[in-house]
Amino acid sequence: MNSLNDRPKEACGVFGVYTENEQTQAALLIYIGLFSLQHRGQESAGMVVSDGKRLLAQKDLGLVSRVFNPDNLHLLKGRIGIGHVRYGTSGSNYVANAQPLMAGCSKGILAVAHNGSLLNRTQLSKKLEERGALFQTSTDTEIIMNLIAGFSKETLEEAVALAAAQLVGSFVLVIMTKDTLIGVRDPYGLRPLCLGKVEDAFVLASESCAFSVLGGEFLRDIEPGEVITIDHQGVRSRFLEKPEERALCIFEYIYFARPDSTIDGLNVHQVRKAMGRELAKEFTGAADVVIPVPDTGISAALGFAEASGIPYDLGLIKNPYVGRTFIKPRQDQRDLGVRIKLSLVSEVVKNRRVVIIDDSIVRGTTTRKIIRMLRETGAREVHMCISAPPITQPCFYGIDTSVRKELIAAGNSIEEIKEYINADTLTYLSSKGLSKAINQKGHCSACFTGTYPIGLPTEREKGGSQLDDQL
Ligand code: SF4
Repeated sequence: MNSLNDRPKEACGVFGVYTENEQTQAALLIYIGLFSLQHRGQESAGMVVSDGKRLLAQKDLGLVSRVFNPDNLHLLKGRIGIGHVRYGTSGSNYVANAQPLMAGCSKGILAVAHNGSLLNRTQLSKKLEERGALFQTSTDTEIIMNLIAGFSKETLEEAVALAAAQLVGSFVLVIMTKDTLIGVRDPYGLRPLCLGKVEDAFVLASESCAFSVLGGEFLRDIEPGEVITIDHQGVRSRFLEKPEERALCIFEYIYFARPDSTIDGLNVHQVRKAMGRELAKEFTGAADVVIPVPDTGISAALGFAEASGIPYDLGLIKNPYVGRTFIKPRQDQRDLGVRIKLSLVSEVVKNRRVVIIDDSIVRGTTTRKIIRMLRETGAREVHMCISAPPITQPCFYGIDTSVRKELIAAGNSIEEIKEYINADTLTYLSSKGLSKAINQKGHCSACFTGTYPIGLPTEREKGGSQLDDQL
């Protein structure tokens, strides 16, 4: 088992480029942009570019570094393009499901990349099948593409807006034809999308960290419900009908996004530090050292140390070069999977009372292994502190925690979880503490509260579509 996979999983990152400059190679910008979004999905990567006349594509299963190389990038000539990294929650991990998807329609060749999950996918695909649509993949993206193609008399911009109005769920889209780039963010703003500029190119990306790596500038977040079109006439927007409240997934701040990204006006690192400070106020124990579970626990641990006065140190070191591990440990190699990825600095933890900061506990298996390693290394006490409330409810909006029985906090009290992971104390950040740290309204926090801003999928949707079984 992959040792650090006891985490909520993200479901994709998207990237788009538009420039009038024929000298700009969009493929290079997309390649670098996708690298900085790799944390959002590692199952497949792909891009489509246009030289103004035709669309060229390259996609495959695997990391960005595996899918692209100097030879195939050289062939991807063009000044407009979109890219995608995928973690598949809906639709299985086949190369056919790698994105962007491409198809011909009345508007020419269309390419679409999507981050999110539709609640009404079964109804929509059924409706499309009745009209004669054929599906080659089990992705929501193909459904969206068919909906857009169905508006054959409308302009591309209108067709995208009309199609998006039929979608229920979380979605961020980047869409292109040979001469146009369009970005869409769902009316609740569940997933992030922002606009930047890299020299003379307009760039759309799931996270602003993709602009800094390219030496570009962040211009603004795409608003919930916004359909932004970029073509030879410039940049313009129209809006889908919006609900009263936005509902950005709170896990973007807690875990998914990179700390150097700014989402809806808040820098992720600063928010995580504030969570750590609030967590320190709620921690009632005493300790000698604060250590993070790298990487996402680092910012919160810094905030915790700042507010508590307990020194921060690096007690756990992550091996950055380990991808998926497939070694099956022998009985006597207990916790090998975790040990390959994380190792302890015994000088930091031996004979000490250790506070260890992490962002979440999903099943509890990895946390239990880390605590066992700490104890075996000689930690005197282990105080587990989590910079978010317990995850008690599954996500139906594109994050891979959709099976309630796998969530340790769904069926166990905090005391029972503490016993299972074998910590001396276990402190979760309270919902009040989380709200204080974020200090902004308009988030989905359904996996803590059970209040789902867009409602729940039907029983059939929860079980996956028939296409999933067949493709
Ligand atoms: S249910 Fe949880 S993981 Fe899913 S969108 Fe809402 S906050 Fe994010």
